Amino acid sequence: MVVVAVLLGAGVGTAAYAVPGLGATACPGCYGLQDLGDDVYADTHDPRLRDVIAAADRRIATFYGERRSHPRVLICTTAQCYRRLGGGGEKGRALRDWSLMLSPEGVNETIATHELSHGEFRQRLGSARSEVPQWFDEGLAVLVSDDVRYLGPGPERCKLPYDQALPVTTADWWSLAGGGSDRAYLQAACVVSRWAGANGGAAAVLDVIDRLRAGAVFADLVRP
Ligand SMILES: [Zn+2]
Repeated sequence: MVVVAVLLGAGVGTAAYAVPGLGATACPGCYGLQDLGDDVYADTHDPRLRDVIAAADRRIATFYGERRSHPRVLICTTAQCYRRLGGGGEKGRALRDWSLMLSPEGVNETIATHELSHGEFRQRLGSARSEVPQWFDEGLAVLVSDDVRYLGPGPERCKLPYDQALPVTTADWWSLAGGGSDRAYLQAACVVSRWAGANGGAAAVLDVIDRLRAGAVFADLVRP
Protein backbone atom coordinates (compact mmCIF):
# COMPACT_ATOMS: atom_id res chain seq x y z
CA MET A 1 0.00 0.00 0.00
CA VAL A 2 2.79 2.38 0.91
CA VAL A 3 4.58 1.69 -2.39
CA VAL A 4 1.37 2.26 -4.34
CA ALA A 5 0.72 5.51 -2.48
CA VAL A 6 4.25 6.73 -3.13
CA LEU A 7 4.06 5.88 -6.83
CA LEU A 8 0.62 7.49 -7.11
CA GLY A 9 1.88 10.51 -5.20
CA ALA A 10 4.83 10.87 -7.57
CA GLY A 11 2.52 10.58 -10.59
CA VAL A 12 0.11 13.13 -9.18
CA GLY A 13 2.97 15.51 -8.43
CA THR A 14 4.26 15.32 -11.99
CA ALA A 15 0.82 15.89 -13.48
CA ALA A 16 0.23 18.82 -11.15
CA TYR A 17 3.39 20.42 -12.43
CA ALA A 18 2.06 20.23 -16.00
CA VAL A 19 -1.53 21.25 -15.23
CA PRO A 20 -1.96 23.48 -12.14
CA GLY A 21 -4.48 22.06 -9.71
CA LEU A 22 -4.94 18.71 -11.44
CA GLY A 23 -3.14 16.70 -8.78
CA ALA A 24 -4.97 18.40 -5.91
CA THR A 25 -8.29 17.96 -7.73
CA ALA A 26 -7.70 14.20 -7.80
CA CYS A 27 -6.37 14.00 -4.27
CA PRO A 28 -6.88 17.10 -2.06
CA GLY A 29 -5.57 15.26 0.98
CA CYS A 30 -2.24 14.59 -0.79
CA TYR A 31 -1.74 18.37 -0.84
CA GLY A 32 -2.67 18.95 2.79
CA LEU A 33 -6.25 20.07 2.13
CA GLN A 34 -9.03 19.06 4.53
CA ASP A 35 -12.59 18.14 3.62
CA LEU A 36 -15.02 20.87 4.76
CA GLY A 37 -18.01 19.13 3.17
CA ASP A 38 -19.96 19.87 -0.05
CA ASP A 39 -16.78 19.10 -2.04
CA VAL A 40 -15.00 22.11 -0.56
CA TYR A 41 -11.42 21.55 0.60
CA ALA A 42 -9.13 23.96 2.41
CA ASP A 43 -5.79 24.08 4.15
CA THR A 44 -7.53 25.13 7.36
CA HIS A 45 -10.68 23.81 8.99
CA ASP A 46 -12.64 27.07 8.96
CA PRO A 47 -16.38 26.58 8.24
CA ARG A 48 -16.66 30.24 7.13
CA LEU A 49 -14.83 29.26 3.95
CA ARG A 50 -17.79 27.07 3.02
CA ASP A 51 -20.10 30.06 3.55
CA VAL A 52 -18.08 32.03 0.96
CA ILE A 53 -18.65 29.27 -1.59
CA ALA A 54 -22.34 29.00 -0.66
CA ALA A 55 -22.75 32.75 -1.26
CA ALA A 56 -20.98 32.43 -4.64
CA ASP A 57 -23.30 29.51 -5.44
CA ARG A 58 -26.32 31.72 -4.91
CA ARG A 59 -24.91 34.33 -7.29
CA ILE A 60 -24.45 31.68 -9.98
CA ALA A 61 -28.00 30.47 -9.40
CA THR A 62 -29.33 34.04 -9.63
CA PHE A 63 -27.79 34.44 -13.08
CA TYR A 64 -28.21 30.96 -14.53
CA GLY A 65 -31.36 29.87 -12.72
CA GLU A 66 -29.47 26.98 -11.12
CA ARG A 67 -25.94 25.71 -10.87
CA ARG A 68 -25.39 22.57 -12.95
CA SER A 69 -21.63 22.31 -12.63
CA HIS A 70 -20.19 20.77 -9.49
CA PRO A 71 -16.51 21.57 -9.47
CA ARG A 72 -14.38 20.57 -6.52
CA VAL A 73 -13.31 23.71 -4.64
CA LEU A 74 -9.73 23.93 -3.40
CA ILE A 75 -8.97 26.81 -1.03
CA CYS A 76 -5.55 27.99 0.10
CA THR A 77 -5.23 30.55 2.87
CA THR A 78 -1.45 30.71 2.51
CA ALA A 79 0.75 31.48 -0.49
CA GLN A 80 2.82 28.33 0.13
CA CYS A 81 -0.30 26.16 -0.11
CA TYR A 82 -1.33 27.82 -3.38
CA ARG A 83 2.11 27.34 -4.91
CA ARG A 84 2.09 23.70 -3.77
CA LEU A 85 -1.14 23.19 -5.75
CA GLY A 86 0.58 24.63 -8.83
CA GLY A 87 -0.89 28.13 -8.72
CA GLY A 88 0.87 31.31 -9.81
CA GLY A 89 0.21 35.00 -9.27
CA GLU A 90 -3.52 34.82 -10.05
CA LYS A 91 -6.25 35.13 -7.39
CA GLY A 92 -8.00 32.00 -8.55
CA ARG A 93 -8.13 29.54 -11.38
CA ALA A 94 -10.72 27.16 -12.84
CA LEU A 95 -9.69 23.81 -14.21
CA ARG A 96 -12.30 23.16 -16.92
CA ASP A 97 -15.51 22.38 -15.05
CA TRP A 98 -13.71 19.93 -12.76
CA SER A 99 -12.40 22.21 -10.07
CA LEU A 100 -11.43 25.68 -9.05
CA MET A 101 -8.65 26.79 -6.77
CA LEU A 102 -8.59 29.99 -4.76
CA SER A 103 -5.47 31.78 -3.51
CA PRO A 104 -5.41 33.73 -0.23
CA GLU A 105 -6.34 36.88 -2.21
CA GLY A 106 -9.13 35.00 -3.98
CA VAL A 107 -11.00 33.66 -0.95
CA ASN A 108 -13.94 36.00 -1.32
CA GLU A 109 -17.39 35.92 -2.86
CA THR A 110 -16.43 37.85 -6.01
CA ILE A 111 -13.46 35.72 -7.04
CA ALA A 112 -15.22 32.48 -6.08
CA THR A 113 -18.20 33.50 -8.23
CA HIS A 114 -15.86 34.43 -11.10
CA GLU A 115 -14.24 30.99 -11.10
CA LEU A 116 -17.57 29.19 -10.59
CA SER A 117 -18.91 31.13 -13.59
CA HIS A 118 -16.15 29.70 -15.78
CA GLY A 119 -17.03 26.18 -14.67
CA GLU A 120 -20.78 26.69 -15.11
CA PHE A 121 -20.44 28.26 -18.55
CA ARG A 122 -18.12 25.51 -19.79
CA GLN A 123 -20.23 22.72 -18.32
CA ARG A 124 -23.36 24.06 -20.05
CA LEU A 125 -21.54 24.49 -23.36
CA GLY A 126 -20.14 20.97 -23.38
CA SER A 127 -18.00 20.41 -26.47
CA ALA A 128 -19.18 23.77 -27.88
CA ARG A 129 -16.91 25.46 -25.31
CA SER A 130 -14.15 25.50 -27.92
CA GLU A 131 -16.31 27.89 -30.03
CA VAL A 132 -16.26 30.63 -27.40
CA PRO A 133 -13.38 33.09 -27.38
CA GLN A 134 -11.64 33.65 -24.05
CA TRP A 135 -12.56 37.34 -23.87
CA PHE A 136 -16.26 36.41 -23.75
CA ASP A 137 -15.75 33.75 -21.07
CA GLU A 138 -13.77 36.24 -18.97
CA GLY A 139 -16.11 39.18 -19.51
CA LEU A 140 -19.04 36.98 -18.56
CA ALA A 141 -17.28 35.83 -15.37
CA VAL A 142 -16.73 39.48 -14.42
CA LEU A 143 -20.39 40.29 -15.17
CA VAL A 144 -21.79 37.31 -13.22
CA SER A 145 -19.55 38.07 -10.23
CA ASP A 146 -20.44 41.79 -10.46
CA ASP A 147 -16.78 42.65 -9.99
CA VAL A 148 -16.59 46.37 -9.16
CA ARG A 149 -12.90 46.49 -10.10
CA TYR A 150 -13.94 46.15 -13.75
CA LEU A 151 -17.56 47.30 -13.92
CA GLY A 152 -19.19 50.51 -12.78
CA PRO A 153 -22.73 50.79 -11.40
CA GLY A 154 -25.44 50.56 -14.08
CA PRO A 155 -26.77 51.27 -16.56
CA GLU A 156 -23.55 52.26 -18.38
CA ARG A 157 -21.13 49.84 -16.77
CA CYS A 158 -18.01 50.34 -18.90
CA LYS A 159 -15.09 51.89 -17.07
CA LEU A 160 -13.40 52.89 -20.30
CA PRO A 161 -14.73 54.19 -23.64
CA TYR A 162 -16.38 51.41 -25.64
CA ASP A 163 -14.17 51.98 -28.68
CA GLN A 164 -11.14 51.36 -26.48
CA ALA A 165 -12.70 48.15 -25.13
CA LEU A 166 -13.65 46.67 -28.49
CA PRO A 167 -10.13 45.66 -29.63
CA VAL A 168 -10.22 42.89 -26.99
CA THR A 169 -12.52 40.93 -29.32
CA THR A 170 -9.85 40.59 -31.99
CA ALA A 171 -6.66 40.57 -29.90
CA ASP A 172 -4.96 37.48 -28.56
CA TRP A 173 -6.36 37.21 -25.03
CA TRP A 174 -3.35 35.50 -23.50
CA SER A 175 -0.85 38.08 -24.69
CA LEU A 176 -3.22 40.86 -23.63
CA ALA A 177 -3.98 39.48 -20.15
CA GLY A 178 -0.56 37.95 -19.54
CA GLY A 179 1.72 39.77 -17.17
CA GLY A 180 -1.14 40.46 -14.77
CA SER A 181 -2.63 43.40 -16.70
CA ASP A 182 -6.13 44.38 -15.59
CA ARG A 183 -6.90 46.19 -18.83
CA ALA A 184 -7.95 43.06 -20.70
CA TYR A 185 -10.57 42.36 -18.01
CA LEU A 186 -11.82 45.95 -18.13
CA GLN A 187 -12.21 45.64 -21.89
CA ALA A 188 -13.85 42.21 -21.86
CA ALA A 189 -16.24 43.18 -19.06
CA CYS A 190 -17.23 46.33 -20.95
CA VAL A 191 -17.96 44.53 -24.22
CA VAL A 192 -19.83 41.61 -22.62
CA SER A 193 -21.88 43.78 -20.24
CA ARG A 194 -22.92 46.09 -23.05
CA TRP A 195 -23.81 43.16 -25.31
CA ALA A 196 -25.78 41.45 -22.50
CA GLY A 197 -27.50 44.69 -21.53
CA ALA A 198 -28.69 45.24 -25.10
CA ASN A 199 -29.85 41.65 -25.63
CA GLY A 200 -31.76 40.63 -22.52
CA GLY A 201 -29.11 39.90 -19.91
CA ALA A 202 -28.82 36.36 -18.59
CA ALA A 203 -31.50 35.13 -21.03
CA ALA A 204 -29.26 36.17 -23.93
CA VAL A 205 -26.36 34.18 -22.50
CA LEU A 206 -28.53 31.08 -22.05
CA ASP A 207 -29.78 31.50 -25.61
CA VAL A 208 -26.22 31.71 -26.95
CA ILE A 209 -25.36 28.50 -25.07
CA ASP A 210 -28.36 26.69 -26.62
CA ARG A 211 -27.53 27.88 -30.11
CA LEU A 212 -23.83 27.03 -29.85
CA ARG A 213 -24.75 23.54 -28.67
CA ALA A 214 -26.98 23.27 -31.72
CA GLY A 215 -24.00 24.08 -33.97
CA ALA A 216 -24.23 27.84 -34.49
CA VAL A 217 -21.09 29.93 -35.01
CA PHE A 218 -20.18 32.30 -32.16
CA ALA A 219 -19.41 35.26 -34.44
CA ASP A 220 -22.92 34.97 -35.92
CA LEU A 221 -24.54 35.12 -32.47
CA VAL A 222 -22.50 37.76 -30.67
CA ARG A 223 -21.77 40.90 -32.65
CA PRO A 224 -20.34 43.46 -30.26
ZN1 LIG B 1 -11.38 34.29 -15.34
